[in-house]
Amino acid sequence: MITTTPDAPVKLSEPDWFDPKSRHVWRPYTQMKTTPPSLPIESAQGVTLKLSDGRELICGVSSWWTACHGYSHPHIVGEIQRQVGTLSHVMLGGLTHEPAERLARRLADLSPGDLNHAFFCESGSVSVEIAMKMAIQYWLNKGEQGRQRFVSFTNGYHGDTFATMSLCDRQGGMHKHLVDSMPEQINADIPEGPEAQARFEAVLDAHEGTIAAVVTEPLVQGAGGMKFHSVEALQFMRKACDDRGLLLIVDEIMTGFGRTGTMFACDRAEIVPDVMTLSKALTGGTLPLAAAIATTRVFDSFWSDDDGKCLMHGPTYMGNPAACAAANASLDLFESEPRLQQVAAIEAAFARYLPTLEDIPGLVEVRWTGALGVIEMESLKELDALKAAFVEAGVWVRPYSNVIVLMPPFVISEDELETLLRGVITVTRSWAQSVFD
Ligand SMILES: *Cc1c(COP(=O)(O)O)cnc(C)c1O
Repeated sequence: MITTTPDAPVKLSEPDWFDPKSRHVWRPYTQMKTTPPSLPIESAQGVTLKLSDGRELICGVSSWWTACHGYSHPHIVGEIQRQVGTLSHVMLGGLTHEPAERLARRLADLSPGDLNHAFFCESGSVSVEIAMKMAIQYWLNKGEQGRQRFVSFTNGYHGDTFATMSLCDRQGGMHKHLVDSMPEQINADIPEGPEAQARFEAVLDAHEGTIAAVVTEPLVQGAGGMKFHSVEALQFMRKACDDRGLLLIVDEIMTGFGRTGTMFACDRAEIVPDVMTLSKALTGGTLPLAAAIATTRVFDSFWSDDDGKCLMHGPTYMGNPAACAAANASLDLFESEPRLQQVAAIEAAFARYLPTLEDIPGLVEVRWTGALGVIEMESLKELDALKAAFVEAGVWVRPYSNVIVLMPPFVISEDELETLLRGVITVTRSWAQSVFD
């Protein structure tokens, strides 16, 4: 058991809007009956979260991996404010505006190959659904019936809506209790090494003529357990798809915008997917926005005099001007500030610190790539106590499944990073010793 120090400076000055027992806000991935109350927060600046009672936490999560420039970066805040004052929203049907046009062009320039055609929406899950719809209709538009299914991977995660749940790990994933309500898909293991490669090709061949696309997260499978795979595995998927004319959808929602060390994980593998999905850090963690970006090959299959061949999709808030302005501002910062060098510095710090945990009981492995560090345990016992102990230590880390994941904002200073890592290591060590010994 973790015991909190009795003299911990918890000032219980709760704000008047906060009722720790309130059930009005239904919380994410949470058993509402047993969960400890959420912590009321007042503001966030840089890498620091400021709680209502005055405590400050260094953020090791970037708010579900979004806040790559830290919180309240003045350039993004300024651009959002400017945009909201001029044109906060307008429908994208029949109208267009500079933030969306500029963003789509910049994403075309930035993304690999001829991923030149961005379809905007508001959440990552929906962008994956759109990518799926593009893939299915790609075949229909080419006159090929029957290609309705997707090959996706063990430990994968692609969202919480029904079609995206069907792509997640169906046996071990978080949605397994709903598996009977999902569309049926085809499961495969990541083709890592010759044996798994042969099995992967056998899966593709066994379902010949029924597959619309292969869907994968590149290099790191995120919410499904932060499993890493090699550049070669990703390249093998691309080649196996090319050999059979299949589409490859790469979900860069977590990995996109520098997290694994290059702007996109696909850049490291030097592959070009047929559709790439982006969200999370797209707006630097400020406003909700996502995109499914297609190659010309996919886009052109919809290009026709036949109305029936168009993409029937149009989220109400698609291309929201304020969100697009935020994304443009975020891209400005990737140009004007040394983000990828900062990622490399974070990676170097992980390499110095994380191996010091190798002797703790219950550890499976520590691993890291770019600004993404993972402490994988046999299990996370006493999870609420572990989370509370991180808060006591002044760090904001949200372990889940069997992993403690570190994904700080790229702007974290050397001192802040050291405080974060020392805090995480001290807490993890004493927690592991108390629950595994
Ligand atoms: C978070 C995530 C999603 C879902 O995005 P939402 O915005 O939460 O719908 C999909 N795919 C990957 C790889 C993700 O990390």
